[in-house]
Amino acid sequence: MNVDLHTHTYPSSTCSQISYRDYIAWCVTHEVEAIALTNHGDVSDNRHLEAALAAEGVVLIHGVEVSTMIGDLVVFSPDLDYLSGFRDIQEAPQPGSVPADAAVVWVHPGAGGGRSGSPYYPGLERLAAPIVDGVEVFNGSWLDARCVRAAEQIADQLGLARTGGSDAHAPDDLMACYTEFPGAVRSTADVVEGLKARTTIPWRTKTTSRRRRFGLF
Ligand SMILES: [Zn+2]
Ligand SMILES: [Zn+2]
Repeated sequence: MNVDLHTHTYPSSTCSQISYRDYIAWCVTHEVEAIALTNHGDVSDNRHLEAALAAEGVVLIHGVEVSTMIGDLVVFSPDLDYLSGFRDIQEAPQPGSVPADAAVVWVHPGAGGGRSGSPYYPGLERLAAPIVDGVEVFNGSWLDARCVRAAEQIADQLGLARTGGSDAHAPDDLMACYTEFPGAVRSTADVVEGLKARTTIPWRTKTTSRRRRFGLF
């Protein structure tokens, strides 16, 4: 099953133009089966949208994006109370502190931390290795060869899962990049399991229309 593992909605992500109505409508129109909502340090839109999407047959996968010294991390967990403890900018989780039912993906590693402003440099992966399960190889805003190559090298070196996510901030950018899971994805737990099993395949279709502006990615 194909799942966009990186999306942003308004108002949880103030930088996103995707309203609740837009998000639900896009998922229904495009017959989305599951999609991950990964706002910056805020899961309140997940709480608002989960039931409305479920009523349309769409499974909402829970995640939160955190900008750290290492770069941007998306933490996936079925436990919204756990995810609500993360802020948009903070220290990276301590090795061993992430519970077994959660998984961490280092998103757009080559682009550095969006809100933390932390640049990527070779060797940073040694700090990330104890806490990450996957690397986002294809990000809709960062598909230039330098970023993709850096992410592929990290995934290879550390033997991590590879993911794709649109990082959509506008409806038309949803599913610009996505992740294929070998089986059905019926819950956040299925995503966590797929990441830990390293069985995911990243896909790309287009670069998002969003202009990259300081502080907005
Ligand atoms: Zn980011
Ligand atoms: Zn993002």
